[in-house]
Amino acid sequence: MSQIVFSALLAITIGVFFYSAFRIYQLFKLTKPACPIRDFGKRIKLTFTNAFLQEKIFRNRIAGIMHALVFWGFCLILFGSIEMVIDGVFGTERVMSVFGIFYDFLMAGGDIFAYLIALFIVIFIIRRCCLNIKRLHGKELSKTNHIDAYIALSFILILMITLAGMNIFYIAGNSDYVGVFPISSIIAPVFQSLSSDTIELMHEINWWGHIVLIFIFANMLPYSKHFHIFMSIPNVFLSRLTPLGKMYNMDCVTKEVKLMMNPETAFAAAPEGETPISRFGVLDIEDVTWKNYLDSLACTQCGRCTSVCPANITGKELSPRKMMIDMRRRMKEKGPMLVNKGKDYTDGKSLIRDYISTEEIWACTTCNACAKECPLNIDHPTFILDMRRYLVMEESAAPAPLNAIFSNIENNGAPWQYSNQDRLKWIE
Ligand code: SF4
Ligand code: SF4
Repeated sequence: MSQIVFSALLAITIGVFFYSAFRIYQLFKLTKPACPIRDFGKRIKLTFTNAFLQEKIFRNRIAGIMHALVFWGFCLILFGSIEMVIDGVFGTERVMSVFGIFYDFLMAGGDIFAYLIALFIVIFIIRRCCLNIKRLHGKELSKTNHIDAYIALSFILILMITLAGMNIFYIAGNSDYVGVFPISSIIAPVFQSLSSDTIELMHEINWWGHIVLIFIFANMLPYSKHFHIFMSIPNVFLSRLTPLGKMYNMDCVTKEVKLMMNPETAFAAAPEGETPISRFGVLDIEDVTWKNYLDSLACTQCGRCTSVCPANITGKELSPRKMMIDMRRRMKEKGPMLVNKGKDYTDGKSLIRDYISTEEIWACTTCNACAKECPLNIDHPTFILDMRRYLVMEESAAPAPLNAIFSNIENNGAPWQYSNQDRLKWIE
């Protein structure tokens, strides 16, 4: 009977998860192409150092070590969760114990990390609610963002408590238990005076509580900021490999420049499959690339980018974290309507101005500190530059000093208001 119930719950979990994944896939289909993915060797190395070794996280020593331990602990505990799924479906008990010493290592690691992670999560909750850490309380974070964070932290805490409970009552009820549980084996004797029925019941409650919470948590993630648990590793793998600060050319503009330099080619037929450009730069969510959108889904809202942004530090409106939050919010609002009503759907709003002001866009110094600091290699400046491209190329809405520079380049071939012919006058 329990196998049937478990299998039904697992089927519902997988079904709902795939439904959410399909909806997100439909949103990705609305986005534009990004640079092709090459250099797989470099990407694997980057994923290992940045994602698995959590290299960037250690810049903030104490919080970084705790966060990295939580991540590594989750990786170890994952094996135990897979074992629970197999046990649940096939009615086995601790099926992976056939791996002997390897199994002992995994169980011992999982047991120690269950207590460590629970402790760190309590510290994270206290730090978030009681310590006034600026990057955790930016004005771009709404009440919903904070509630979302507390819900996810509480879920993880209960997951760790039920995991520890499961281990404790498993040991208390079995004198010949398999696996090694360094901390739970110390606590278990406290409960050995309970009747065997009570111990069995407590084990069942913790076992089912743990696995059902995993099922619920997995299906909450796509709608939470903690979706980064799934998206961060792919996002690091797909990071930009070109040096930060290097602007990419727009192919359509490069082509126009080449045509100007060789006008005869203007009459050549357009290559097959080439579609005219619908818009320069980014105005709204359908103009972003799939990589921009992936960045927004991977963002943990940790605020490390905003905490190093010189524009933000000096009191400007700009917050790179807000850019990611706004992009995700806008996709959540407009994306499903574009999917249902077609690409011509409009709600009279746009990402620029209704979510991100032009003041924010022009406040960026393109120093790239945000992209360098982000533990997930999110590339905010490229997104900001694409919004500027829209403002300049579609609306001619650059700030006045920039417009003066553009006119000078056009008229004088240089950003200054002197003629090209007068360049050497300084000698006189
Ligand atoms: S963009 Fe990166 S650094 Fe900024 S809040 Fe998101 S994850 Fe943190
Ligand atoms: S590139 Fe722009 S958004 Fe990023 S840190 Fe520098 S000023 Fe801030």
